[in-house]
Amino acid sequence: MTRFQDLGLIPPLLEALAAEGYEHPTPIQAAAIPHALTGRDILGCAQTGTGKTAAFALPILQQLSAEPIPTPRAARALVLAPTRELATQIEERFTAYGKSTGLRSTVIYGGMAQGPQVRAVRAGLDVIVATPGRLLDLMGQMVVSLGTIRFLVLDEADRMLDMGFLPDVHRILMRVPLRRQTMLYSATLPREILDLVHNNLHDPVKVETSPSSTTVERVKQLVVHVETGRKLRALEKIVFAPGDMRALVFTRTKEGANRVVEQLNRGPYRADVMHADRSQSAREKSLESFKKGDTRVLVATDIVSRGLDVDGVTHVINYDVPDEPEAYVHRIGRTARAGANGIAITLCEPVERRKLSAIEKTIRMEIPVAAGSAPRDAAPPPHGSGGHAPRTSPGSASRASRSARATASRSSAAGSSGSSTRCSSTRRASSATRWADGSRSRSACATRSASTSSSCSRRRWRGGATGSSPRSPASCDPRWASSPSRSCARRCC
Ligand code: AMP
Repeated sequence: MTRFQDLGLIPPLLEALAAEGYEHPTPIQAAAIPHALTGRDILGCAQTGTGKTAAFALPILQQLSAEPIPTPRAARALVLAPTRELATQIEERFTAYGKSTGLRSTVIYGGMAQGPQVRAVRAGLDVIVATPGRLLDLMGQMVVSLGTIRFLVLDEADRMLDMGFLPDVHRILMRVPLRRQTMLYSATLPREILDLVHNNLHDPVKVETSPSSTTVERVKQLVVHVETGRKLRALEKIVFAPGDMRALVFTRTKEGANRVVEQLNRGPYRADVMHADRSQSAREKSLESFKKGDTRVLVATDIVSRGLDVDGVTHVINYDVPDEPEAYVHRIGRTARAGANGIAITLCEPVERRKLSAIEKTIRMEIPVAAGSAPRDAAPPPHGSGGHAPRTSPGSASRASRSARATASRSSAAGSSGSSTRCSSTRRASSATRWADGSRSRSACATRSASTSSSCSRRRWRGGATGSSPRSPASCDPRWASSPSRSCARRCC
């Protein structure tokens, strides 16, 4: 197995990695770092949770620390990210990995006073991590100049596209010197991103995680069919089960999130809410308390489904089935991070079954139905039925909820004997598999084999990644190939 020492990293970085407790590089790190250290442009195809931040941060820190710091000190590396949360997390990683290098970084994003950000830039720094909008503002005010940038990262490029940031990204790119190293990371490669790659990366090395090591495959997925209007009860039964749990609950709307959290807070555990209507400082507080384990349940809209990096999320619960299949993939990617396993439970009312089918088509698997839930082949409602579809049998919701609660309590029981959260979540997923399926499904086998091998350890990585030249669309991830229209519109790496 590759070691960080084999990648050519300098001692201060190796020490920082050891301090973080990382034993081995993740596949994307092993594939990308050696090429990036030689200055090659990188096209990285990786989802969050694969360790991609270190894959670009470490080579940048190493190359920056080999150069003299310019006078006056001016930023030489720029990382663009789609959301404030992701930008903050990236900057935290730069600080952690670079703590013995003497390099300085700061994060720039909108939604809060710009004073501290302006002061940080004026004090002189080496790395800027930014969301596009506020960066353009500060460029317009002549606070930030990109004339000294030598390293550029576009992280989660497809997400920036989805959020409508591509015009801003193009404007920023026009101000970055052409002589630079560029690394672009994206989970999918739609045409616009391929154009971006074509026009801005020079002979890039393509690195990607092998499909067998994607986050999604390590997540034990279940669907609980509930009667219309019974979701809150089903949710309560899952999250009020005794034992350790760190659950992220996703709702479609902010109002829905507020309603759910209000209800949950009448119960025995603390729940909090995170969505775009909350101020940045309130969001940071909520996230901090969730990270510390003071909050058991964080109810959120999709604003946090990407890039949220919280260790040990044991459960992702889709209170609402997401409208977009991609959102499902990103939501459940909040658990099973860094080699651990996790559980994703989707609560599905009859009116949502069409959305569930679209998700299953995208991920190319049937999500196992929790025991006691309504039968999966119950007909979905006709279009425009307004939810008056065939209902599940009376009592099925509570049976399903009992089953889901059983998952949670078995999980907790398993977790209590483990020494690390991630190890325990691996066992949690395994016990859920035995309980939920009765049979030994494909994903059940995957989970078992993971738990008996190295992925039981948080700090070890399995699976592989490849480094190669860009391939033709024919080598798409088979997930996209399953649906002809999708494979054309959003080509995966
Ligand atoms: P990322 O995909 O960069 O957001 O990383 C996901 C998580 O994996 C973060 O919590 C990182 O701290 C963690 N991580 C990154 N690299 C490693 C590694 N080599 N070993 C263990 N954990 C890692």
